[in-house]
Amino acid sequence: MRVLPKFCVLQAGGNRSAAVPFSRSANAAFRHACDENAGGSLASHERCRGVAIGNLGKPTAHAAFAAACSALFFVMRRLARSFVIAAIAGTGCGQQAAPVSDLAAQRQLMVQEQLRPRGIRDARVLAAMSKVPREEFVPSESRAASYEDGPLPIGYDQTISQPYIVAFMTEQLRSKPSDRVLEIGTGSGYQAAILAELVAEVYTIEIVEPLAKNAEATLQRLNYKNVHVKAGDGYRGWPEHAPFDAIIVTCAPDHVPQQLTDQLKDGGRMVIPVGERFAQQLYLLEKKNGQLKESATLPVRFVPMARERK
Ligand code: SAH
Repeated sequence: MRVLPKFCVLQAGGNRSAAVPFSRSANAAFRHACDENAGGSLASHERCRGVAIGNLGKPTAHAAFAAACSALFFVMRRLARSFVIAAIAGTGCGQQAAPVSDLAAQRQLMVQEQLRPRGIRDARVLAAMSKVPREEFVPSESRAASYEDGPLPIGYDQTISQPYIVAFMTEQLRSKPSDRVLEIGTGSGYQAAILAELVAEVYTIEIVEPLAKNAEATLQRLNYKNVHVKAGDGYRGWPEHAPFDAIIVTCAPDHVPQQLTDQLKDGGRMVIPVGERFAQQLYLLEKKNGQLKESATLPVRFVPMARERK
């Protein structure tokens, strides 16, 4: 089996595509939206300055009324300014680091608002998503955006996946605590950390060496002792540790690598995006009695699987 899509049957669930897109533009759109909101509030606030409120030179009842109005406007303006500042801080558009307690609260909100309503039900997956601090896996300038509903850049032209996609793919694996899982595309190490909460051992391969090193350092700092990171081309899998109970691929090849299916245990599951740069499907492959059963689950957009030059 070299190229799966021709043989795959689309399952119900394709309609989730609108919620799923894995694109950098989502993040750019978010930042743009934040700028617009902040700018809009300040602009309407500034307009208050130009309001004519009467001639304060003449001590008439009208002028007194106007003076009272003026005072009221000043108070209102100060209040409005405070609200605008609080609102901007609340959106996370500022560069200040969000306090840990805020991020912990945002993590719970992410689970309630992004995962549960879209059908993530597995209690163990939900618990792992509620626990692992995504903010530790993103660059410091993106910390405040850690729980936004989209991918974020992690450098080297790569991204950390949208929380929903991480939860969806993890749920599809139906992992058990005794499992040994292979991940291709370590990236930030976040998906590996989620898996580390759920299974016995995680083996993860990243082709961009500095990313592999960063992820390894982050995972060590957070005390994940059951994740093994390797820098290299994941197309070939990790034969020394095969076979695996489950395999998760978080970059998209244009066909399913034979080495990966060979390294999947009988009874095991593989989740893998397959396709071209902008048109991929997420597949679930189940190996039973040496046969692979395949089903397409979601349209997605991952970074392509790169190949190491020999
Ligand atoms: N799972 C990651 C996100 C993955 S982004 C996380 O949780 O952050 C996809 C990653 O796959 C990128 O870091 C990219 O460098 C990596 N990648 C691409 N081709 C690869 C290959 N052949 N082998 C291993 N990693 C690869």
